[in-house]
Amino acid sequence: MGTLFSDAERHLQKAFEHIEVSPDTIERLKYPKASIKVRVPVRMDNGDLKFFEGYRVRFDDTRGPTKGGIRFHPNVSQDEVASLAYWMTFKCAVLDLPYGGGKGGITVDPKKLSRFELERLSRAYINALGDFIGPDIDIPAPDVYTNAMIMGWMMDQYNTIHRRIAPAVITGKPLAMGGSVGREDATATGAFHTIQAILPKINLDSPETTFAIQGFGNAGAILAGLLHKAGYKVVAVSDSKGGIHNADGLDIPAVRDHKETSRTLESVYCKDDVCTLYPSDRISNHDLLELDVDVLIPAALENQLTADNAANIKAKAVFEVANGPTSYDGEEIMVNNGILVVPDILTNAGGVTVSYFEWVQNRSGYYWTLDEVNQRLEERMVRETENVWSITKEKGCSMRTAAYIHALGRISEAMDARGTKDYYLNKV
Ligand code: NAD
Repeated sequence: MGTLFSDAERHLQKAFEHIEVSPDTIERLKYPKASIKVRVPVRMDNGDLKFFEGYRVRFDDTRGPTKGGIRFHPNVSQDEVASLAYWMTFKCAVLDLPYGGGKGGITVDPKKLSRFELERLSRAYINALGDFIGPDIDIPAPDVYTNAMIMGWMMDQYNTIHRRIAPAVITGKPLAMGGSVGREDATATGAFHTIQAILPKINLDSPETTFAIQGFGNAGAILAGLLHKAGYKVVAVSDSKGGIHNADGLDIPAVRDHKETSRTLESVYCKDDVCTLYPSDRISNHDLLELDVDVLIPAALENQLTADNAANIKAKAVFEVANGPTSYDGEEIMVNNGILVVPDILTNAGGVTVSYFEWVQNRSGYYWTLDEVNQRLEERMVRETENVWSITKEKGCSMRTAAYIHALGRISEAMDARGTKDYYLNKV
């Protein structure tokens, strides 16, 4: 499997140095439990029948039905989907969600499809998966270039096939179709709780603490707003076009308003009137990562902090809101330089946690208030952040290794509960 998988495997090997797990567990985590590759037929607007390649992988379901997003992207491959499903297995276990890990995707550039074609593709993918997914089997959610409306079409199609209303088959749905309040902000809100729990431990819980955030999308922009509201200084933010920097702190609500109307951060600094309103300098994405700030938050893409730039990172702590922003080698360098790296499988798990809450609400048919969702999210994020931190201190390891140890403990417990070699040989 690909780099993502080999990086995750190397992290797991490190965890094995600190925790004893049965050979059964190690064997079971080597390969996905089930994978499906499908050819998805779509009647295009011009009358052609086109076939797209789709995948779904259920990596491990020892702790419950598998859970993970569906990605629409030209680079989607079976390997990538399997690696992401592997990752989800550990993320769900870190947060103690009763799920295993899954993932899905279609190799497609959705920007090249009309809305009609996108809907037909989404429904055809569910037709092709058939019984591979289900509320008690495997529960998809949005991922890169899929959204609530696509989840709604997919749920609809599942219902049509199965001739019943089953909202719990998919999460991240529109509110009017059984989505949960708080889901849209969940990743940023969860990350905010993890940050709030960690900062006092590293003496950075001061209004003078500075943040740089790469990525001003769903996760990055909402998190920037929460940090600003809490009184911290967000001094730099960026999107795919570039970034802005102001050492005294940016007026994040104003920047967000501006981005919402102009659709770009660039115009925050390139127009005179806005420059005067929100003073800031242009900064490249590359330079943003290497800024002299207290906290760096990659919230955009994979592989941003690597052996190429890790030695130049000046932040004291990195909170991974994006999935896989730090390469294995990049992290080794940063950790050796005393930088605390708080891993994605903890920091960005607020999204899957509120997805779990959505599934619970769908199954019970009783819907929670925003306060209830947020309170339960905070409880879980803080509890599991404290658990991972305690393991870090106890074992003297990185927070990522601690997160893997924590997850592995839960996964192997669920495996061993079904019987171990020693049990069958009457040794215990
Ligand atoms: P998004 O598409 O809403 O936003 C992505 C942002 O990154 C955009 O502002 C885009 O302009 C910016 N970007 C793209 N290329 C860039 C570059 N080269 N440099 C700087 N910025 C760049 O996506 P999102 O939902 O906010 O997700 C961001 C990351 O967080 C992804 O890694 C995603 O997997 C991860 N994540 C998101 C969620 C969630 O619920 N949204 C949950 C878990 C993890």
